[in-house]
Amino acid sequence: MHRALALFAILALGPAYGQQVNLRLPTENRGLLTGDLAGFYMPTDLNNKPPESGAWGFVRNVREFPEGRVYTRFHEGLDIRPMHRDARGLPTDMVKAIATGTVVYANDSASRSNYGKYVVVRHDWGYGPFYSLYAHLATTTVKAGQPILAGDPLGRLGSTGAGLNNARAHVHLELNIMLSERFNDYLGAANPHGNHNGLNLSGFNLAEFYLLLQKNPRASLAKYLHSQPQHYRIMVPRKGAGTLPIVERYPWLRFGNHDLPSKSWEIACTRSGFLVGIAPSNREVSKPTVTYVRPTKLNHRYYTLNRLTGTGSTASLTASGERFVRLITDNF
Ligand SMILES: [Zn+2]
Repeated sequence: MHRALALFAILALGPAYGQQVNLRLPTENRGLLTGDLAGFYMPTDLNNKPPESGAWGFVRNVREFPEGRVYTRFHEGLDIRPMHRDARGLPTDMVKAIATGTVVYANDSASRSNYGKYVVVRHDWGYGPFYSLYAHLATTTVKAGQPILAGDPLGRLGSTGAGLNNARAHVHLELNIMLSERFNDYLGAANPHGNHNGLNLSGFNLAEFYLLLQKNPRASLAKYLHSQPQHYRIMVPRKGAGTLPIVERYPWLRFGNHDLPSKSWEIACTRSGFLVGIAPSNREVSKPTVTYVRPTKLNHRYYTLNRLTGTGSTASLTASGERFVRLITDNF
């Protein structure tokens, strides 16, 4: 186990690849870059909650235990405040593409998703397909298949979706990888959003990457993603000679030689389940098995979106964790 850990650490220092990633913010709100977080983030409660409740990460649903406190609910995006409102108080900000790409999905039905009306744009920087997602729009102004330039409008900022009102109108912004290209097969039924369902899109801390680009416009996305802290690793039996579909899509996930035979794959994940790397292993496992977990004070389920359970340095997959592994390995 320690050798595998070292392998991940060494390879993370390997050469960067892919194109330079240029990102702009989706509205005129630049508070993230000027340090005005209260002006940038829309909190979950305008009276009670700090701006950080609108940030990416484990920022919600704090639970107190004798051993300490833990934020158990994960927010997979940035909630960005509007800058302009009309005489009736409705936001007038246009939400714009953060980078050049192609619109792959526009959901025009506010009631069909917790995201409300939302748009997904695919970007190709030589790192595999990335998907920016813009949610809670009042209107969408684009159609799937439409090529888009950075800064092109996608719709107007609004408050569509579950549990929002006009006072808390914001754009929820994500940048994601796609977990499976057969998401309907995984569900066992078609869903209205197809592969662009939020459950099939896995995002990282885009605010942190914006700040990194502000410091170094040539920062490598793959290097940034490799630097995400590993929280746990899962070993799954290898089926067949080829690599996993997700590694074919995202070559920066590939650690070690995937062309040689091996008995299993070891998959490294962050706390939120973002994939950091996948390496072949000759250890034999009969089913998905947790091979490493970062020790924490409380049950692992509070830290891992209920995918792992157990305490200290031992953990096993919950039913939800097993479903997650099936999704990322296209095993269904
Ligand atoms: Zn949000």
